[in-house]
Amino acid sequence: MTVESVIRPEIRGLSAYHVADAKGLVKLDAMENPWPLPEVVALEMAQACAHASVNRYPDPQAIGLANRLRQVMAIPDAAGLLLGNGSDELIQMIAMACAQPGTLILGMEPSFVMYRMIAVFCRMRYVGVPLNDDFSINGDRVLDIIHAEQPALVFIAYPNNPTGNLFEARVIRDVIAASPGLVVVDEAYHAFAGESAINWIEEFENLLVMRTVSKLGLAGLRLGYLVGRTAIINEIDKVRLPYNINALTQAAGQVALAHHAVFEAQAKEICAMREAMLEELVAMEELEVYPSHANFILIRLARASEVFDGLKKKGILVKNLDKAHPLLEGCLRVTIGTQNENSMFINHLKDLVHL
Ligand code: PMP
Repeated sequence: MTVESVIRPEIRGLSAYHVADAKGLVKLDAMENPWPLPEVVALEMAQACAHASVNRYPDPQAIGLANRLRQVMAIPDAAGLLLGNGSDELIQMIAMACAQPGTLILGMEPSFVMYRMIAVFCRMRYVGVPLNDDFSINGDRVLDIIHAEQPALVFIAYPNNPTGNLFEARVIRDVIAASPGLVVVDEAYHAFAGESAINWIEEFENLLVMRTVSKLGLAGLRLGYLVGRTAIINEIDKVRLPYNINALTQAAGQVALAHHAVFEAQAKEICAMREAMLEELVAMEELEVYPSHANFILIRLARASEVFDGLKKKGILVKNLDKAHPLLEGCLRVTIGTQNENSMFINHLKDLVHL
């Protein structure tokens, strides 16, 4: 046996999803909430996890957690709800349910890389439509491709990662209306955005809205959720592996959601720090700074990879996108951290761009 004889060539051609080693560094690379759990929530979670029956398989439907999500996240009563081990797993489930020989996933570029990777996993074709220079959607081009290629699935991150912007609602609605297949509006950054497509589900039968609690402060729980028409959600549910939401996530998630106001308040604070950081960055004439509706900011600068390395030497890890996509040449993405971390980042950045 050789690796080549058993592993599909397109899998061999992939690089595994890259997670940088952040040991000892200020972690501003992965859109996490910078604060540990408040003590009261942590203690309550510990109690709940201590009493979870880990000798048994968990509730296969995670009913308690699903009901709590419905209340807290204002999910329309009539809509179907599906939980995933992170929204990553939901993307994979949706693709698995739709994959047929020759079917296509359409994405915007640059955007979240898992849409393309999962197309490869599931043997679907993938077409990435470049965004405009200001990172808006080229609506005419997307509609032309939809008409010509009839994609089974369209993914739109709203706000978009790694660019941070919210696309125009009108363009997204045109895409949903023109699509013969499903359109997934990925609202991973919803807590920082103030906009949502969730109320359009009533209007569009092919719309799915996907969210995660990761960016809200619960990335370690691995919990994403998908909302859409029950007829579609019920079909996607069939490719879900049994017990995909483990007992500890079910227990801890319910406690966290009971304290949802705490995380909402933190999201507000993160937005305020984002605005302050934007102001500081815009004042630096060496940078091009992109507006953000998420918990991170994209900047473009000369010698980006050198500045990235310089920041790392100073103990700060951001995301280097310099070589990720032609439209991201010279770009770094910085997640909003604590006040102190943000100041450290700004100060070191100022030193480095003036070198
Ligand atoms: N969608 C988007 C747009 C993202 O940026 C991310 C995380 N980087 C995810 C989905 C996945 O989130 P998770 O699997 O943690 O729920």
